Amino acid sequence: MPTCRTLAQSGFFSAATWTLLLSLPTGAAQAQESLDMYFIDVEGGGATLFVSPTGESLLIDTGNGGQNAARDANRILDAMQDAGVDWIDHLITTHWHGDHYGAMEELASRVPIRHFIDHGPGVESIAGVDEFLNTTYRALYERADHTVVTPGDRVSLAGVDVTVLASAKQVINRPLPSAGRPNPYCANFVPQGEDNGENAQSVGILAQFGAFRVLHLGDLTVNTEFELMCPNNPIGTVDLFVVSHHGQPSSNAEVLVHAIEARVAIMNNGTRKGGQPEAMQVLYSAPGLEDLWQLHFSQLSGQEYTVPGLFIANPVDAVESSMPIEPLTNPRGSGAPPRPVHNGEANWIKVSGHADGSFTVTNDRNGFMKTYQ
Ligand SMILES: [Zn+2]
Repeated sequence: MPTCRTLAQSGFFSAATWTLLLSLPTGAAQAQESLDMYFIDVEGGGATLFVSPTGESLLIDTGNGGQNAARDANRILDAMQDAGVDWIDHLITTHWHGDHYGAMEELASRVPIRHFIDHGPGVESIAGVDEFLNTTYRALYERADHTVVTPGDRVSLAGVDVTVLASAKQVINRPLPSAGRPNPYCANFVPQGEDNGENAQSVGILAQFGAFRVLHLGDLTVNTEFELMCPNNPIGTVDLFVVSHHGQPSSNAEVLVHAIEARVAIMNNGTRKGGQPEAMQVLYSAPGLEDLWQLHFSQLSGQEYTVPGLFIANPVDAVESSMPIEPLTNPRGSGAPPRPVHNGEANWIKVSGHADGSFTVTNDRNGFMKTYQ
C-alpha cells in the first residue's frame, strides 16, 4: 500500500475515485465467490472435495485402502490444504467398495470428520466390509454425526443446495423444481443384468450453487439410472457431470448422460479402469457436451477414444514410448497383468463454479484452464 499512500498524499485521487476504490474490494470478493471442487486422483477410486463459498466442506468418498490408504489420504489432504480446509464438515461415502471408503480411517486419523453420511448397511456380505462397518466406522461416527440418507434428503452445506437423488437403490420420486419433463431417451433404453451389489446402492447427489449445477451419482449402474431418469427426467439439465463409476459402461446409459445435457464431464478413471469405447461413445455423442476431462489417461480408450492430453490430469509412472491407436481390451481373470501403477506425484482437476452458472476447470498438471461462460 505504500504506493497508494504516496499517491493519496500527493492529492492525486479525487473523492469520487476514493469512493470507487473503497467499493472495489467488496465487489471483487463477491464476484469471486465460488463453489470449488477438487477431483482428486485416487487411481480409479472416488474422492471429490466440495468447498462452499464460506469454506464449509463436503468430501465424497475417500479413495483406496490397504497399502494405498496413506497415498490416497495424503492426496486428499493436499487438496484440503490447497482449499484452506482443516477438517471435513460432511463425508458422503457413496457405497461400501474399497475404492470409495478405503482411506477413510487413515484420513480420520489426520483430520476431524464431523458428519458421516451413507446409504446404510452393505449388501454384499463381504467379511472385511462388515467388520469395518461394525467396528472402525461405528467408532468414527459415534463421536461425530451420522446420517443414513434417503432420496429427497438435503445435506446442509452453506450457500449450496445439496439434494440426495439416490440411496440404497431407491431414487427420488418427485422432480426437482422446474424439472420433470418426459425423457425422450427412455424409449431406447436397454437394461443390463440386475445389479444386486453395492454400486446400485450408491448415494447420488445434485449440488446447486445459484445457477451452477453439478451431478455426482457415485457408481450407480444403468438399471438404477433408468429408475431415476424414466419416464420423466427429475433432474433437468446440469452444468457439470461427474461421470459415473469411473467411466465404465456398466453405468452411464444415454437415459442419464444424454438427458442431462451437461456442458462438461469429469471422469475419475484409472489407467486401466474406465474409459472403455462404449462409455466414451455415449459421452462423445451427449447433446451439449463441450469437453470431457479425465483424471487419468486410459489404456482402455486407446488413441481412438481418448481426449487430448491437455484435458488429462495424470500419466502413468512408466510412460510408454507410444500409445496404440486401438483401445486395449480390458484383461480380466487370474492371468491379467497388474494395472500400471501411478504412485508418484498426483494432480487434481479443480473446478470453480459461480452463482451465475459460469465455471472454470483447471488441470493441475499442466495449468491448462478453461472457462465455460
Ligand atoms: Zn468405484
